[in-house]
Amino acid sequence: MPGKNIQVLMKQHPQGWVKEEDFEVVEREIPKPGPDQVLVRNIYLSLDPYMRGRMDPVRSYAAHLNPGDMMGGGTVGQVIESNVASLPVGTYVNGMLGWQAYATARADELRVLDPKIAPISTALGVLGMPGCTAHYGLMEIGQPKPGETVVVSAASGAVGSVVGQIAKMKGCRAVGIAGGKAKCDYVVNELGFDACIDYKASDFKERFKAATPDRVDVYFENVGGEVMEVVFARLNAFARIALCGIISQYNGQPYAFTGMRHLLVNRAKLQGFIISEHMSYWPGAIAEMAGWIKQGKLKYREDIADGLQNAPQAFIGLLSGKNFGKQLVRIGPETV
Ligand code: NDP
Repeated sequence: MPGKNIQVLMKQHPQGWVKEEDFEVVEREIPKPGPDQVLVRNIYLSLDPYMRGRMDPVRSYAAHLNPGDMMGGGTVGQVIESNVASLPVGTYVNGMLGWQAYATARADELRVLDPKIAPISTALGVLGMPGCTAHYGLMEIGQPKPGETVVVSAASGAVGSVVGQIAKMKGCRAVGIAGGKAKCDYVVNELGFDACIDYKASDFKERFKAATPDRVDVYFENVGGEVMEVVFARLNAFARIALCGIISQYNGQPYAFTGMRHLLVNRAKLQGFIISEHMSYWPGAIAEMAGWIKQGKLKYREDIADGLQNAPQAFIGLLSGKNFGKQLVRIGPETV
């Protein structure tokens, strides 16, 4: 075992767009597991848009970071020392162990992974938080019915890609919105959406209108801003909107939304949600999605950066659409 742990800290609160200087990579001692703990060697770190919110000193649904705090985040790793009978050395586990190479944890802080069900990295994507977010937001809030039109923004990403594929399985028309031709082609040709419109194209509004001839019954919102404005203008009566994220505003860009009247005149229902408040939903959703992956009905894509020291750069890329699929960081090899 190497002698040191590596951690990535938030050095300072970002001002606007997050920069590499807002982070600091430090060496620490590898922690010793306590009597009811294991030592985990982290293999993959998940990078997620919500992490940007935690960097601002504002009130939110979770506590924010202070300068010098380690960046938090989901990880997949392997137990390398164990004082817990149910977690022998070699067990693969998923936990919120943060941006670091080694961590100690109790059994109740970890989910045991079976690498025979799916690659362990999927526990951070399609078979983890983003997948559950898609499943919950679409099924519980969107409540799609066969024949309806479901629209999802950030359609090629970890959450959006799952939303559209489930919508297709439920007999809906699935329309994605994504940045650029390569992402849109992938969404239609690989994931099987009916259409995907590039919101960066000058004729986005017209093309979106043409792709939603029966207007929009369910909107799964991931980005906010102008995209949300365009979709709201196409809502059907009694549309449902799952407000999952507004990534276009996470770096502090203000946006004055003008489309509230579309909610009113269409008697639409909008609900925000935070998936970590619905933990009892996860096991059923994960089991169902694992089955779909096995049957080839649910596809996923990962974008893996190498090395913890490159996590800040990959995170900055995620916030500006450089990632293509679920953004992960490989901290170490799957087996040693
Ligand atoms: P993605 O894998 O989709 O990556 C983020 C994507 O957002 C980028 O690739 C980019 O795609 C798009 N994006 C970035 N900036 C903008 C912008 N200014 N305008 C439009 N699109 C932009 O991330 P996730 O799937 O992990 O997350 C998607 C959303 O879901 C986020 O808003 C996130 O906060 C939210 N979320 C919410 C949860 C909850 O509990 N409510 C849980 C998990 C995620 P492109 O190139 O297409 O622009």
